[in-house]
Amino acid sequence: MRIDSEFNDIDALGDDHVSSSSETPMRDDAFKLTNKEKMDIIKDDVRHILETLGLDLTDDSLKGTPRRVAKMFVNEIFGGLDPAKKPSASTFENKYKYGEMLVEKNITVYSTCEHHLLPIVGKAHVAYISNGTVVGLSKMNRIVDYFAKRPQVQERLTIQIVKELQKVLNTEDVACVIDAKHLCVNSRGIRDIESSTVTSEFGGKFKEKETKREFLDYIQLDTKF
Ligand SMILES: [Zn+2]
Repeated sequence: MRIDSEFNDIDALGDDHVSSSSETPMRDDAFKLTNKEKMDIIKDDVRHILETLGLDLTDDSLKGTPRRVAKMFVNEIFGGLDPAKKPSASTFENKYKYGEMLVEKNITVYSTCEHHLLPIVGKAHVAYISNGTVVGLSKMNRIVDYFAKRPQVQERLTIQIVKELQKVLNTEDVACVIDAKHLCVNSRGIRDIESSTVTSEFGGKFKEKETKREFLDYIQLDTKF
């Protein structure tokens, strides 16, 4: 039963959510096709999956699904695979000489687990200490969203956000904590509705105990407006 053991191996790897590298593994020919060409292929593939499962795609409710899913994959939930969609790297000079950490917390994360293609939903908290350069606050949300819009593992997402901000801000002093629910854990497999996964990446000064503590204290503040 070769196929059975193949499926078992894949299950074991996926449920352990092993991540192999901080770079999203891309093919060399990833951008040879246009987005429109990708959508046409994915549309046929989704149709094939649904028909294989026995669904009648002539039904009014289902007939638009393959095209809808193809558009959603390419333009939305996996749109962050396209480097053209990366938020621009515009920064500003830190004119007011603010030298403490800046924390952008409770950034909504909608991502997709690359082992099961099910949603990851949670919050990211991002911080940096300026060394002369600052970014607009919404830039931090946009960077989180860009890397979230890929098939992901949460560890890699956390590292990619930190690396990008380090590059944009030209400093090592960047940190990110993500607390998220994985629907592959919550809705299937072990079906643990309550559990969530916390990942963190601390660069530069954030590796120091006091700076890390300050950041973690800020993100635990119960903000009510
Ligand atoms: Zn998963």
